[in-house]
Amino acid sequence: MTYTSALTHYDQRRDPVDHVIEKVLPEDIGQVHAVRLTRFDRRGGNGPHFLSARWYERAMCGAVVKVLMPQEFDPGEDDACPRCVGPVLRGERAPAPPWMDDEPPLPPEDEEQPVS
Ligand SMILES: [Zn+2]
Repeated sequence: MTYTSALTHYDQRRDPVDHVIEKVLPEDIGQVHAVRLTRFDRRGGNGPHFLSARWYERAMCGAVVKVLMPQEFDPGEDDACPRCVGPVLRGERAPAPPWMDDEPPLPPEDEEQPVS
């Protein structure tokens, strides 16, 4: 069971050399939330992963998170979101991500089975 540390915001900085605006971790990280990733959804890698607006995730407390951190969520951390700690300790399932809010519901699985 894996919960990943996640942040609700990031900063944008213009690169002094090529003037490209890049996403960077905020100076004040604030509260660290927990996001439960499925095994199909390991975007981990080595650095923080900045999500595009289409793919924001939902933390266990319901907050919309925009940055996935490479390290696991630690409920004992000072910065840990207190409303995420409980669900993590209980091993709860993740709430639906924000991008699912607009999706039409899936049809029932037992519908439209071919009759053989
Ligand atoms: Zn939280």
